This record gives sequence, C-alpha cells and structure tokens, in this order.
Amino acid sequence: MRKAMIAGNWKMNTTVAEGSDLAINLSGFVSSSGKFTKTLVVICPPFTHLSEVVKSVVGSDIAVGAQNVWSEEKGAYTGEISAKMLAGLVKYVIIGHSERRQYFGETNELVNKKTTIAMANGLLPIVCVGELLDVRQGGDYLNFILNQARVALTGQAINGENLVIAYEPVWAIGTGLAASKEQAEEVIGALRNLVNAMFGAEIADKTLILYGGSTTEENIAEYMAMPDIDGALVGGASLKTEKFTKMIAEAEKSRAR
Ligand code: PEP
Repeated sequence: MRKAMIAGNWKMNTTVAEGSDLAINLSGFVSSSGKFTKTLVVICPPFTHLSEVVKSVVGSDIAVGAQNVWSEEKGAYTGEISAKMLAGLVKYVIIGHSERRQYFGETNELVNKKTTIAMANGLLPIVCVGELLDVRQGGDYLNFILNQARVALTGQAINGENLVIAYEPVWAIGTGLAASKEQAEEVIGALRNLVNAMFGAEIADKTLILYGGSTTEENIAEYMAMPDIDGALVGGASLKTEKFTKMIAEAEKSRAR
C-alpha cells in the first residue's frame, strides 16, 4: 500500500521566528519514534525560513519543501531561486500551485520546465493541477485537469517515488468549500489513469496523488478513506499545530487499517 502524505503549504505567512516555532512544535509531535511510519510529513515554508526550519526539524521525520523554483539553471533572474540552490537544503518543491498560475501567469509549459529542472537537481516536485470554478461548471473539467498534468509530466523520468501530484480545485482553496470526497476521488482516479497511460501501471500504482482545498482535521479522514487519494496538500490548517498534527494522526490511522 502507498504511504500517506500530509504536506503543509505555509504560503506567504509567518515570520522566520514564528515559522521556526511552528516547526519546532510540529517536530516535537512527529518525533522519530516510529509513531508515523505510514505517513510522510512535509512542510513548505517561505524561502526566507528554509534554513532555520530545516534546523528546527532535525531529528524528526518531517521533510521540508520550498513553495516554488525558477525554471533556469542560473543567471540574470533577479529575485528568483534555482533548483540547485534548493537542492541539498530541502527535499520537496511545490510547482504550479494555482496561486502561481493565477497571480504570476505560470503556464503549463513553465510548470513542465520547472518540474524538469527540479528533478534534474534531485528535488521531489509536488506538481499542482486543478480547475477554476467556471471550468468545473462548464463540465469539461477532467479534460482540463488531465491536460495540465499531461503537459507537466511530458518528458519526465518519473519512477513512482520521485514526483507527487496534487489535485487542487481552485474553487476549494482557502474558501472553506472543500470538494466532496467523491469529486476528489473522481479526478485523482483519472490522474492515476493518466500516469498509467504515460508511464505504466507499476509507476501509477506507486505515485502519490494528494487532494488539496480546505482540508482540515475534521474532513481529512473522509479523503483518506478513498482508494486513490493518498493525502493532502494543506494550506490554512498547516499553520496551526493542533490542526495539522491531528491531520497527520488521521492519515496514519487511515493507513493502519
Ligand atoms: C493550498 O494552498 O494548497 C490549499 C490547499 O489551501 P487551503 O488548505 O487553505 O485551502
């Protein structure tokens, strides 16, 4: 059985000191005592916090990720961060989050390039896909999402363990309007079929695919009970130790059954 994953996206929240405190509290909960053997825990703080947060989680099984990466190796890209800079510091990187697509004009092609360079530098991308409300209401959302994923994954040497996909319907992010477990399962099942068609059944079976969008400690168990949903990319609730730790515990419980 695939492991579960609970990944927190802190977005542009917390100071370095607050982030470090949050990481210390989480790491106290997720100590390496073998408590969470079936759940991978990831936190993705802002770039400015990464070094401190990495130190704060030493000795726990929490992995750290960045929220973004630039698509080029190096050079005159003022303000950007390369994959090489992140490699060795963090394990994961979120790529193609809908807020990057919406506010910074990231296209499917850019997401593909970022995924390629992240993987070439040994980072594990968490590639986000998801539809806006009008696309869902228009009815053709599966094609839209599968096209996003197809473009992102084209040419990538994925092996089932070196890339995570997150389905995040834009209308569910930060709105409190979470997708139902059936809606999430429909899309995530279709994404798994796409991975199967592109890379084969063995890789599709191993690839972690998360749901994201207003997940909380109260609804996480519903998603975790679905066959294709492997966990959650969590925004708001990842900033609260109590909520996030309850979500980790629920994910672990779901995999212990
Ligand atoms: C996110 O930003 O990836 C997210 C899922 O946010 P929230 O959990 O707050 O909806």
